[in-house]
Amino acid sequence: MLHDLIIIGAGPAGASAAIYAASRGLAVLLLEQQAVGGLIGQVSTVTHYAAIETHETGASFATRLQAQLVAAGVQVCLEPVRQVSLAAPLKTVQTTANTYQARAVILANGSTANRLAIPGAATLDGHGMNLNAAREGQAYAGHNLYVVGGADGAIKEALYLAQFAHKLVVIHFEDQLSAIPQFTRPLLQLPNLELRLHTRLTAVEGETALSRLHLTDEHSGQSQWRDDPGAGVFVYTGSTPNTALYPELKLDKGYIPVNEKMETALPGVYAAGDIRVKQVRQVATAVADGAIAGINAAAFIQSGAPA
Ligand SMILES: Cc1cc2nc3c(=O)[nH]c(=O)nc-3n(C[C@H](O)[C@H](O)[C@H](O)COP(=O)(O)OP(=O)(O)OC[C@H]3O[C@@H](n4cnc5c(N)ncnc54)[C@H](O)[C@@H]3O)c2cc1C
Repeated sequence: MLHDLIIIGAGPAGASAAIYAASRGLAVLLLEQQAVGGLIGQVSTVTHYAAIETHETGASFATRLQAQLVAAGVQVCLEPVRQVSLAAPLKTVQTTANTYQARAVILANGSTANRLAIPGAATLDGHGMNLNAAREGQAYAGHNLYVVGGADGAIKEALYLAQFAHKLVVIHFEDQLSAIPQFTRPLLQLPNLELRLHTRLTAVEGETALSRLHLTDEHSGQSQWRDDPGAGVFVYTGSTPNTALYPELKLDKGYIPVNEKMETALPGVYAAGDIRVKQVRQVATAVADGAIAGINAAAFIQSGAPA
């Protein structure tokens, strides 16, 4: 199946790229493994992006993004991409269901949230150990909730979880939280907060639910088990770029280098959003990257890329 342009990933970067490319008359195929919206579609609260609604949730943001893609005439297929061949003039993209070809490809498949590689975590995945406060937080109402991480995303999700938590415990390995004051100020005023700085969660135990947690102090090295049956842990310790699909590209610390047109080192191959080398990873920068990639991919194709 031949398309003008294939975009991998329907987060803010891929969706923005698709909307711009379609507006230039291209037949655009947008491939997504999970759901339109990407990472931001899964957060409890969207902040900072210009013109968001008051109390914008990830879900409401993703719903509007989806509607905008439909209105733009973008073909969205919920198919995970498994393999690509990008070096030849005609690019090949294989999903679990189909093989597609296109004159140009935009890589916008972001990153995957890190899980904690500690004893017990894999057993309790989804049964005490969680990555999505918006989806799973309420199920723990009345129990103690633990958030691992100290950056913006972690503290923002901790603020959301506080409403369900008997006690909210924030565990961060450094001596200070690294989140912005907009999030740390209200956090520090929560009556049910226990802040555990210079501390790591080093193991969890339980069979079908969490029963106890092992905490280790970074300064003293001392550790202790803490009984907490039915508690929930939410992990926000960064993410890893989804670049394993692209062995043909030379990466920089796992991210894809691009120039200001979002071109990679391979002709006709663009990268946009969190997956590329950049300083600020936010919706605003992902959407901007997508616009630039979509416009330049369209110009590339319309200037006579191979049929
Ligand atoms: C907890 C948290 C809260 C945040 N809050 C904010 C905020 O309030 N405001 C803000 O501006 N930024 C926020 N961010 C950052 C923001 O979410 C990201 O910068 C943004 O989502 C990046 O967009 P993206 O399109 O590059 O990647 P992503 O949003 O990661 O989208 C990539 C998409 O590609 C898909 N994909 C991956 N692999 C494949 C594959 N093989 N085949 C097909 N599809 C694939 C994924 O399923 C995903 O839908 C937050 C981040 C976190 C972790």
